[in-house]
Amino acid sequence: MKPFVYCQPDSIEEAGGLLKHSGYSALAGGSDILGEMKDRVVDVHGLVDLSKIKGLSDVYDAVDDVKIGSMTRLSDLSNDPIIQRRCQVLSLAGKAVATEQIRNIGTVGGNLCQRPRCWYYRNKRFDCLKKGGDICFAVAGMNKYHSIIGGDRCHIVHPSDVAVALMSLKASVNLFSDGNIISTPIEEFFVTPDVDITRENILRKGEFLTGISIPSSSLDCTGVYLKAKERQSMDFALVSVAVNIKITDGVIEDLGVAVGGVSPVPLRLIRLESRLLNTSTKEFKPKDAVVGLFDSAQPMSQNGYKLPLIESYVERALIRAIKE
Ligand SMILES: Cc1cc2nc3c(=O)[nH]c(=O)nc-3n(C[C@H](O)[C@H](O)[C@H](O)COP(=O)(O)OP(=O)(O)OC[C@H]3O[C@@H](n4cnc5c(N)ncnc54)[C@H](O)[C@@H]3O)c2cc1C
Repeated sequence: MKPFVYCQPDSIEEAGGLLKHSGYSALAGGSDILGEMKDRVVDVHGLVDLSKIKGLSDVYDAVDDVKIGSMTRLSDLSNDPIIQRRCQVLSLAGKAVATEQIRNIGTVGGNLCQRPRCWYYRNKRFDCLKKGGDICFAVAGMNKYHSIIGGDRCHIVHPSDVAVALMSLKASVNLFSDGNIISTPIEEFFVTPDVDITRENILRKGEFLTGISIPSSSLDCTGVYLKAKERQSMDFALVSVAVNIKITDGVIEDLGVAVGGVSPVPLRLIRLESRLLNTSTKEFKPKDAVVGLFDSAQPMSQNGYKLPLIESYVERALIRAIKE
């Protein structure tokens, strides 16, 4: 591992100032970035440890919304009574991440900002587009786990389970930027390869995530999170789906649905949501609900299986959410 400068600021402002330095990155639990540094996939000159900044590790029920600090550990998140009671889908997605050991170290902010798991990106010998090269090796290579929608020139999938659940909850992320905290809808936080192939979110030098807010309209709903994995022990999602639904007197009053594992960013299924909103659960036809949702999919040589898999997972998640 190359030597690097380690800083431990105790305020948000100080951290923002340090992160403006060239080659400096935020350090949360370190479960992702330290591996990347050891494997020489990224060249980091300085790590800005956010763990001593007060107030970044709390879950707070503000009645109108639920606030989650970016440094909240994934295990604390998924076992938090407020999250379990008011944001069921998020608790389930948090528990679906990796193993207990990784959840005890990894944070919510780190989970949203973790880098892709594409094996070409993670191997220093492959100079892929994300690292400034001029080819995506997955196109003619091994693409079993890659994206089927919106890959443009780079076919990564976003690896975060938590992001998919937050998308279904229509959450906002709070960023520290130039002395201010700015709130942005989570859908606008992630960046597709056609916008910028080198990064996965909107964060620029000096900016970092301070927390997440979940709006009152998404709280106290029924949540379902389904994740298809190749190994039934710890594994990243082949595909995943999060449903957050409120049913009153047999009518779907509020609905958020998002999918992971199919695209470089987690995708919210707005077309499906508007199809089902204000409809009676008695009229719900699972097969009809998913028709045409993934028409834009363009699978590659080894990942065609993802299309029927995601369709059936969305159907199953909706059936389960409506039954519960
Ligand atoms: C074996 C293994 C299995 C895994 N399986 C899964 C899985 O099934 N599902 C899943 O979702 N994840 C999985 N992960 C990923 C894991 O969840 C992440 O490594 C973890 O959440 C990252 O959190 P961290 O706090 O350790 O982040 P760090 O490693 O500290 O940081 C990760 C990245 O985020 C940036 N960052 C961290 N915090 C902030 C912030 N507040 N603002 C801006 N940038 C920030 C860092 O600069 C770095 O680039 C797995 C990881 C491993 C090692």
